[in-house]
Order: sequence, then C-alpha cells, then structure tokens
Amino acid sequence: MSDYRIETKCVQGGYTPGNGEPRQIPIVQSTTFKYSTSEDMGRLFDLEASGYFYTRLQNPTNDYVAAKIAELEGGTAAMLTSSGQAANFFALFNICSCGDHIVASSSIYGGTFNLISVTMAKMGIETTFVSPDASNEELDAAFRDNTKAVFGETIANPALTVLDIEKFASAAHRHGVPLIVDNTFPTPVGCRPFEWGADIVTHSTTKYMDGHGAAVGGAIVDSGRFDWMAHAEKFPGLCTPDESYHGITYAEKFGNAGAFITKCTAQLMRDFGAIQSPQNAFYLNLGLESLHVRMARHCENGQAVAEFLTAHPKVAHVNYCGLPGDPYHALAEKYLPNGSCGVVSFELKGGREAAGVFMRNLKLAAIETHVADARTCCLNPASSTHRQMTDEQLAEAGIPAGLVRMSCGLESKEDLIDDIAQALAQVN
Ligand SMILES: *Cc1c(COP(=O)(O)O)cnc(C)c1O
Repeated sequence: MSDYRIETKCVQGGYTPGNGEPRQIPIVQSTTFKYSTSEDMGRLFDLEASGYFYTRLQNPTNDYVAAKIAELEGGTAAMLTSSGQAANFFALFNICSCGDHIVASSSIYGGTFNLISVTMAKMGIETTFVSPDASNEELDAAFRDNTKAVFGETIANPALTVLDIEKFASAAHRHGVPLIVDNTFPTPVGCRPFEWGADIVTHSTTKYMDGHGAAVGGAIVDSGRFDWMAHAEKFPGLCTPDESYHGITYAEKFGNAGAFITKCTAQLMRDFGAIQSPQNAFYLNLGLESLHVRMARHCENGQAVAEFLTAHPKVAHVNYCGLPGDPYHALAEKYLPNGSCGVVSFELKGGREAAGVFMRNLKLAAIETHVADARTCCLNPASSTHRQMTDEQLAEAGIPAGLVRMSCGLESKEDLIDDIAQALAQVN
C-alpha cells in the first residue's frame, strides 16, 4: 500500500484478503488460538515466530487495523490500545521508568496532563512542562541527564495550539531522546508528524479516526527511525536483555523498525492488558474508511464557524489556526496545509456565566465530553474535563474559565451557524 495516496490507504490499507477470504476485515472474536504442538506455541512465546496466542496481547483484527494506521502515518509498526490514555501511557512507560524524566508541552489534553503530572509522578517519573512556544534555549534548559522522552500534541486539545514539530524534534534529538507526538486532532490525513522528525505517534482513535462516537480506543505508531542502540545507556529496556522475556534484547532482535512496538506489546500489553476489543477495532476501521472524506468536511465546517464567531460582538476571541489572525496560523500553514480539524474554541465576553447560557440554548450542538464526532458538540473545559486544574494551571494551558470548545460535526455549516447565532442572541 505504501505507493498509494492517503485516500486509498484509508479505504484499503492494512488488510488485503486472499482468494475467497472476507472482503471486510474479519472480527476474530476469540480469546485464544490453537496450536498442534507445544513447540509451535513455544516459538511464539520466545518471539521466534510471529503469530497469536492470547488476545490480551494481540489479535488479528486489531493488527489489520493497526497496520492501516501505520501506513497512514508512514510508520514501520503500530498497535492498538483500549483508549488514547492507554496509548500515551504505554508510549511513555515503554521507555521511562522510576527515576526518569519527561519534557512535555504544557499545552496538552487534560487527561494526559493528569496522567503524567500526577499518576506517573507517583511512579517516580517526573515531568518538566514547557510552553509549546518555547525557544530552543528554553527547551534545552528543560532537559536533564535522566530525560527519556519529549511529548507534545500536534494540535492541542483543547487549547488548539499548534506544535512546532521540527523544533521539538530537533531539541529531543540534540539530547538523544525521541519525540512522541499525540496526533489525535489532525489525524494522518491532516499531518504526518514523522515527516517532520517525530519518532513515535499516538492517537486517541476515539476521536476523528472512529469519528462516530462509537468506540473508545487508542493507537501507537513507530516511525522506525529512532536509533535506540546509539543511545543504549538511556534505554536499557530496549537495549539490554529482558529477563521477563527469555533474555531478548528488543533493539537487537527487532531493529529500529520493530523494537518499540514489539516491547510495548510483549511487556506492557502482557502486564497491563489494555487491549482494544476486536469488535471496537472493527468499528474503528469503518471510521478509517471514510476518514479522508470526513476530515475535509470537519475542517470546512470548523473554518466557517470560526469565521462567523470572529465577527460576532459577544465573542472576545476565537482560537482556530485556520484564521489568518490566529497566533498559530503560520505553523498551521506549514504543518496543516490541508486544514486542521473541526474543533474551534472561543471565549465569550460574558465569561463562565455567558458560556453556560449559550450552551444551554444550542439546539444542534449537544453538551458532551467529546470531540471529533459526526455530530456537533460543545463543552466548557473549566467546569468539566479540566476541573481538576487550578486557575493558574488553566491559564498556563491557555484555557480561560469562560472558554467554550465546540467540535463541528458533519452537519450543514449554515445550520450550525444559525444555531450558534440564535444561542448567542440569548446571552446578555
Ligand atoms: C481524548 C484524547 C486523549 C485520550 O483519549 P481517550 O481515548 O479518551 O482515552 C488523548 N489525547 C488527546 C489529544 C485527546 O483528544
């Protein structure tokens, strides 16, 4: 599939049926797999042969869909996880352990912020947060000898800042560590971070990839380009024998192309078991088949709504990198030339209270803890997803208390704008 354009990969990537085999990806609804001899099965456990033995680690349905996502991102290997949270945790924990350190953009999803600043801190992994707009000097100053990864989001949820992927990648590489980019919002249709130097990409497939609000899921993709052995002292988990896996050294046995995902599957999926169900992987693939068609429409609707809001007297400001006046417009033109996403955020002049009145009066846009759905939805982050953050942390993450995040779906943009106009008319 690698020679085809992204539209073709969305539709047909990952799975090529043989003669007489199902045209659609089969759902392998089985926890386990049968072998004729113990020796056959032993080779799987030794990672000497590839194959399936237990769905807590791997399942063929998941692997077809993961292979499609790897093709879409231009990576060498991928895996599905039960959620985007699991994907980001696994991607980081695969190379960080107690005593290690992460450099992360402060402009990230609230769940990921909580994961790394609270839960991973309890595991002895510290994080230094940097502004997504940090200079090279500020980035360099955030690194320590024990730093193992840099993390950011291509388009941050919900702040909608755009990451300067090349700048963050070169900072990571100057310090001998990979850049992990959560590419949930643009999807590989809008941006492929590997083309700009990122090493690992993660996704909450719950969002646009599924696109129908049907299934929670995540994915991790490896570019296959990070040279683990060149920095072996930093990554003992990949570069020294794994005693829990018969003394295998992942970076030696599977090379740069396969080590990261193989270790993540063989160790973390085995031990934590955050696997996506094959049924959900099937739903995810249905979403992927139309991803390129849907993203264009989400972007068109997002742009139209952002332009309408910008001109409205009750709106203080609008964040949407497709607007020429947006601080991230130049980065968007570089990294997201075909459009960013359907998510627009804006602050009403009347603050938190006005946001409440506005949202209560919307008829098409439902109040939901969700984005990137075919149906338009909205949310006030400060009173919901980000309520664990202090006002100081909210300000630092670029999320004022009166901010409304609106995820423009696939409806008529004229209907969406009419709905927004009538709801704004109710605000004093
Ligand atoms: C939603 C989201 C996540 C978490 O994904 P879940 O599938 O909800 O676990 C991570 N990163 C970003 C950018 C998200 O939008």
